Amino acid sequence: MRVFNFAAGPAALPLEVLEQAREELTDWRGSGTSVMEVSHRSKAFVAVAEEAESLMRSLLAVPKSYKVLFLQGGATGQFAAIPMNLSAPGAVADYLNTGTWSKKAIGEAKRLQLKVNIAGDETASRYCRVPDEGSLKLTAGAAYVHYTPNETIGGVEFPYVPQTGTVPLVADMSSTILSRPIDVGQFGLIYAGAQKNIGPSGLCVVIIREDLLGKARPGTPSVWDYQAMAAEGSMLNTPPTFGWYVCGLVLKWVQAQGGLEAMAARNRAKAELLYRAIDDSGFYRNPVAKPCRSWMNVPFTLARPELDSTFLTEARAAGLVSLEGHRSVGGMRASIYNAMPLAGVQALVAFMQDFQRRHG
Ligand code: PMP
Repeated sequence: MRVFNFAAGPAALPLEVLEQAREELTDWRGSGTSVMEVSHRSKAFVAVAEEAESLMRSLLAVPKSYKVLFLQGGATGQFAAIPMNLSAPGAVADYLNTGTWSKKAIGEAKRLQLKVNIAGDETASRYCRVPDEGSLKLTAGAAYVHYTPNETIGGVEFPYVPQTGTVPLVADMSSTILSRPIDVGQFGLIYAGAQKNIGPSGLCVVIIREDLLGKARPGTPSVWDYQAMAAEGSMLNTPPTFGWYVCGLVLKWVQAQGGLEAMAARNRAKAELLYRAIDDSGFYRNPVAKPCRSWMNVPFTLARPELDSTFLTEARAAGLVSLEGHRSVGGMRASIYNAMPLAGVQALVAFMQDFQRRHG
């Protein structure tokens, strides 16, 4: 039985994708092997890799002046790769601190001897909003500005794209990529761990403007050097082939759904339904300022926290799983990425209302 899986990542994948992967698992397109068992340099796999890249480019309307890389090491690897590629030791970079993940990115930047200027800080709001656009204290001539458009744990999202002039804007889009159209041209570098909206974990997509290539610090390991990776089509070494293949299936699925405009309409409707149910309940509560509420990750608490474990047990019995909040914050969190159908959110809302009637 398939359940409605509200996990924050690794997250649910579309059923159609899993079924196709299962269908092809032991005899991939007449090869007599699985896709995991062929050389990454074989014609057949290179075609898979190229198709995934071209789908990513067309869905996101990536301009020609950008490279799309398929890397490893997760988004956490990029926390370090970004400073190594875009800055010299001792340079200044601006970071917006809006939650757990931006904080981790800041930590890695400091390890790499960047002078980190915190250009906006939401520690005081307990990460329940993002800084006002006009309040950002950006550094003229900074190596780059880094921010996290969607904080997966806090469920906080930027309702605007920071304007940084000639300073490259770097965005951790792990939890927002492919959820709606974006204007890639506003960014110097976009990165995203795959395990939410792209595919299985183990793959990390980087979209980088070409003029930012070739500036890696001396001594940067070649697997972390964007230019070296770009020159080899992300196959400087053996890539995560199965993840790349599943990514291609997911991208085809997104395209068949109507592309990112259609995903956006669906995601907005799902989020609105769930937030309305929370706000109208008088029992559930979401702490995030309304303009900054995430479409993808919806944390909420119960009026009586002693009911948390009953809520989770009953939800699981009703086929609604992985609703526990991140271990650092507790409460509940419903992650409603692209693969979560409206029916899943409707089922969750109906369950929440019923639970409140019985226990509220
Ligand atoms: N950034 C964000 C916004 C995330 O949600 C996560 C993982 N949940 C990470 C970074 C870290 O990703 P990874 O585990 O792939 O390194």
